[in-house]
Amino acid sequence: MDPQALAVAHACKGFLDEEEGLRLHELARAHAQIGPIVEIGSYCGKSAVYLGTGARAANGTLLCVDHHRGSEENQPGWEHHDTDTWDTEAKAMDTLPFLRRTLRLAGLEQHAMIVVAQSAVLAKIWSTPIGMLFIDGGHSFEAARGDYDAWTPKIAPGGILAIHDLFPNPADGGQAPIELYRHACASGAYDELPTTKTLGVLRRR
Ligand code: MG
Repeated sequence: MDPQALAVAHACKGFLDEEEGLRLHELARAHAQIGPIVEIGSYCGKSAVYLGTGARAANGTLLCVDHHRGSEENQPGWEHHDTDTWDTEAKAMDTLPFLRRTLRLAGLEQHAMIVVAQSAVLAKIWSTPIGMLFIDGGHSFEAARGDYDAWTPKIAPGGILAIHDLFPNPADGGQAPIELYRHACASGAYDELPTTKTLGVLRRR
């Protein structure tokens, strides 16, 4: 991965381990020819740098989907709130300027598209089969399942479903992502690929 983009990813807000990021990069690079790479939950763009540079290397495209008002766990009073992201006029979070800046610094403005939307609303009008879906949006059971139900049917055969924040031990983190992962495995629609730390990876049959 190009060192300038890697430095941008390191400096970006957000929680993504570098090993997980590099796995996302390789997966995006290997599947961007099948269809666009779609990320649900871009926040400030850390994972978008890894995915976008992977897509770019394969002459593909990344779609960054986020409402940019922050997930439940990012809201004021919660553990992961960052006051820099607070828009005092809107009285709400706004992470869009951070994402735009990250994509610009990483040289990805020509290769990544930002869609400011609730993922389920965009899903209603999205019909292009996708090469890779990365789910890292809201971590409540309702939000995570909503992203899964709206978007996984759009993954092309041979395409990838990647889910972030799998915590087998409930003491380590919320259980919604790993519940989705187990649900996907049980569906019979996917083959399990090796996980990278908390990143689950499945291939659509
Ligand atoms: Mg995450």
